[in-house]
Amino acid sequence: MTQSLADLAAAFSGRLLTDNDDMAPFLTDWGHMRGGKALAVAQPDSTDDVATIVRWCNTNGVPIVPQGGNTGLAGGCIPDQSGTALVLSLARMNKVRSIDLVNNTLTLDAGCILQSVQDTAENHDRLFPLSLGAEGSCTIGGNLATNAGGTGVLRYGNARDLCLGLEVVTANGEIWDGLKALRKDNSGYDLRDIFIGSEGTLGIITGAVLKLFPRPVAQTTCIVSLDSPSRALDLFGLARRRLDTMVTGFEFFSEECLTLVLEMFDDARRPVETRGPWYVLVELSDLQSEDSARENMQNLLETAFEQGAISDGAVATSVSQARAFWALRERLAEAMAKSGKVIKHDVSVPVSSVPQFLDEADAAMARGWPDIRFIVFGHLGDGNVHYDFISKKGADQDAFHAQQDAINAVVHDIVVKHRGSISAEHGLGTLRRDEADRYRDPVERGLMRAVKAAFDPHNRMNPGKLLA
Ligand code: FAD
Repeated sequence: MTQSLADLAAAFSGRLLTDNDDMAPFLTDWGHMRGGKALAVAQPDSTDDVATIVRWCNTNGVPIVPQGGNTGLAGGCIPDQSGTALVLSLARMNKVRSIDLVNNTLTLDAGCILQSVQDTAENHDRLFPLSLGAEGSCTIGGNLATNAGGTGVLRYGNARDLCLGLEVVTANGEIWDGLKALRKDNSGYDLRDIFIGSEGTLGIITGAVLKLFPRPVAQTTCIVSLDSPSRALDLFGLARRRLDTMVTGFEFFSEECLTLVLEMFDDARRPVETRGPWYVLVELSDLQSEDSARENMQNLLETAFEQGAISDGAVATSVSQARAFWALRERLAEAMAKSGKVIKHDVSVPVSSVPQFLDEADAAMARGWPDIRFIVFGHLGDGNVHYDFISKKGADQDAFHAQQDAINAVVHDIVVKHRGSISAEHGLGTLRRDEADRYRDPVERGLMRAVKAAFDPHNRMNPGKLLA
């Protein structure tokens, strides 16, 4: 090595970890499903620091694994077992750089935690609408690198739609200043859009310009029980026709999901008397008044009831009850992790195809695996279904998990038949890399490889992730 690791450690005093115990938290993923080894973990404070580290890695032939909050669910931010890679954690780069309340934009470091970004926006009477279960730990850089979705996509779009500009350290250690706060910019290839969703395989996002929105004056949340995903779609159609962009949340989950959350969390309560088999959480956001929000929700539920779309419903009467309703949906990932091993699918199909996809997948799964628990939930308004499985109580966890590949093939074949995606919002990482490649159109495969080769000719940026 032209400049040794010890020299780099001296230059980054206290911010370059090489001790195994110190590195451990950076080497295992959120669900403790995957672990790896690393040469070192670097914790830069600035974009210049990141560039210095990337150049050192280049000179010494060291692969780089960018890491934000380490909440990714596809294995993208964990190094492999070789112990040759450097994990580059953005966690210390967590400063807001500027806020422009006329342009409604926030410019910040990529290591800012999502929740703190939401809080900053709120402190300025604005909304930053990206919202997901890991928001207390995940970072904006990670959100952009995975093009995260979450619960606000229906109204505000995913992370890509919320970003106007980026600053990136390229694979050869140069800094690209694309921190433009423009809503219109047709000046050539959109580099920002190429880096967003690239899972750290093309460059390291060090800064971003985010869009802010007016804060709703009032929000109202309800949970309804209903007979089937088709009924849920009827309710969705009604809500969108009547209330359009006021519908800011439309999440669905099954009775089995609710039962699991009730089993795992003592403080969780059934939201409505009449049992499912399906539930939908609807959130309306209103820019006028609390009364208007409540009235709109009441009218929506009355019509839905008259039309036979819903069986029962409860509207939250306080902020804490609304939070408790949301928690039933948001605690599902944690409830599954607590229950043991999980076989997950983060798929999307056109919204109109969700009921048919579920019918076909349920039938195929029931034929092959009658003894597992179906945990089916998701962002119905985006056609995004988390089609997950856990084992029955007392079953052999390893034997259950050994069926993963066979189950994936059954579920994903049906998704692809509906022209859907086998990774709606979590990215490919290592988890879905090979399957995605198998389903990929050859022309698309060639173009993706050409992009990778152009941005990272020596394959140093997160090698082995997203593309084989
Ligand atoms: P990490 O996990 O650290 O990294 C994820 C990927 O991005 C890796 O490939 C990594 O190399 C790359 N990366 C990270 N930072 C950078 C950077 N600065 N530059 C370049 N590459 C980078 N996701 C959703 O989309 N919707 C959900 O509803 C959702 N709910 C979740 C709920 C729970 C309980 C958990 C644990 C996760 C959930 N996720 C969800 C997944 C995860 O939170 C998101 O993918 C999140 O965007 C990852 O951010 P992070 O900072 O933790 O990134």
